[in-house]
Amino acid sequence: MFTLPELPYAYNALEPFIDEETMRIHHTKHHQTYIDNLNKLNAENLNLEELLKSSDQKILNNAGGHYNHSFFWQIMSPKNDHEPVKEVVDLKDEFTQAALSRFGSGWAWIVAHEGKLKVVSTPNQDVPIGSPVLALDVWEHSYYLKYNNRRAEYIDAWWNIVNWQQVEHNLANANTGD
Ligand code: MN
Repeated sequence: MFTLPELPYAYNALEPFIDEETMRIHHTKHHQTYIDNLNKLNAENLNLEELLKSSDQKILNNAGGHYNHSFFWQIMSPKNDHEPVKEVVDLKDEFTQAALSRFGSGWAWIVAHEGKLKVVSTPNQDVPIGSPVLALDVWEHSYYLKYNNRRAEYIDAWWNIVNWQQVEHNLANANTGD
């Protein structure tokens, strides 16, 4: 059984950059739905890592939805007291461009892959290749209530709530992990 992970902050903690209602719906409805679907579909009780390799597209969509959102909540923080990570800041423009140009629903990522940091974007709930360092949800459900169709404003505002401590941790793990 999969369960919804608790947010490491309150629903209103990321205001004014992400509004309380968006966070509440995003977490308790969107993320919860991926988890509910996964629990219904996963008759064999496989773990998330195994499900992410499934050949069943429904399982892939919901496993990806659970994995991506669980990562996303951790990469944001209301505290902005940690030094930004230079290697990641250097990729900010490229990352912003990837987030902006992702057509339809999907994600922008910075991943560590084959010893390098790379900017990639994925459609829908696909997970990226490599070890994720940073991720931004650009599905409309992540910004529409506050920003309507202004994705660029959402992306720009979101940089204010990046959890740099977590980014640094992800980067350190990626360097040693694969
Ligand atoms: Mn989402």
